[in-house]
Amino acid sequence: MRVLLVEDEPELGATVVARLSAAGFVVDHFTCLGDAIEAVLSAQYRAVLLDRRLPDGDGLSLIAVLKTRPSPPPVLILTALDDVPDRVAGLDAGAEDYLIKPFAFEELLARLRVLLRRNDVGAHVPLITIGRLAYDLAAREPIIDGHSLALPRRELAILDALMRRAGRVVMRENLEANVYGFDDDISSNALEAHISRLRKRLADAQAGVILHGVRGVGYMLRAA
Ligand code: CA
Repeated sequence: MRVLLVEDEPELGATVVARLSAAGFVVDHFTCLGDAIEAVLSAQYRAVLLDRRLPDGDGLSLIAVLKTRPSPPPVLILTALDDVPDRVAGLDAGAEDYLIKPFAFEELLARLRVLLRRNDVGAHVPLITIGRLAYDLAAREPIIDGHSLALPRRELAILDALMRRAGRVVMRENLEANVYGFDDDISSNALEAHISRLRKRLADAQAGVILHGVRGVGYMLRAA
């Protein structure tokens, strides 16, 4: 699940990236408006975490650009501007939520989950099941026989993409977009390595699924 963070305070930015990555998100982090605009024009994000006071302008300008995109992601504004007119301006501009700095990371994560759940097209069917493997879309949690299956974050990102398109082939490029941020170094066989570890983990857990490779195209997950 790929999210965009636009934040120019180095320490806060680095902390949020580290914590979100640990929580299983792929995070693209930019420190100015110009780079963030370029990013939203070329990548699809599930959510945007947006600071307002940026070196080259008000973060709210990004929202106007997002609105021109197909299925614009929800925006959570992170800012120290806490008086009422500023909050209203943010929400008027189309932001879905507002978090005042300083904030506890747990609160950021909780708000982010609410946004994702609210905007998830699959929100009415939060659980997808293939074989013995169930997947909670909102919580991004694989479950086998009622027990959560712990996965490293890249494998979880791959499984997330495959479960969301259960029974259909997910193109290799789409998987890579889901798994890697702009800053990651992708070696040509890195995806295959993650896929093969995920395949083994699913087999070991007796998930009852087959992670099937379609040569030159991508991968799909189906019941065994
Ligand atoms: Ca700032």
